[in-house]
Amino acid sequence: MGFMTFKTTMLSNLFKKPVTTKYPAEPAVYPEGSRGHVVIEIEKCISCTICALNCPSGAIKVDRAARTWEINRYDCIQCGYCTLKCPKKCLHMAPGYQTPGPEKSIEHYDRPPEEEKPAAPAANAAATNAGDGK
Ligand code: SF4
Ligand code: SF4
Repeated sequence: MGFMTFKTTMLSNLFKKPVTTKYPAEPAVYPEGSRGHVVIEIEKCISCTICALNCPSGAIKVDRAARTWEINRYDCIQCGYCTLKCPKKCLHMAPGYQTPGPEKSIEHYDRPPEEEKPAAPAANAAATNAGDGK
């Protein structure tokens, strides 16, 4: 009886799809509601450092002078708190997690340079010309 059950199970398994997926050959499907990872829209960032000051695991570093924003994904616990605190709404959670690796690499972002302010209106030049008396 036991042998027959074993044989039936073995035969049926030959024709069933595998229960597990061949990760990473087949990309993982993240279930709805999984927290994922932090992404930044660096062009919106103002280097206020609020995200870094509120991160419970110290995963974010902001250098205002150097205009950089960094995250250590291995320290991040995906709590999402930084995304709630950012005043510019430039942090979001997106599906997916840090790929395992042998080294704790830091992800680095540079804020783009400020746009050049347009030149002052030509009022000064006009005034100068008017007072020229020529
Ligand atoms: S999700 Fe949480 S742990 Fe990760 S960077 Fe944001 S505040 Fe820090
Ligand atoms: S809180 Fe937002 S705007 Fe401020 S440094 Fe962090 S990402 Fe940039």
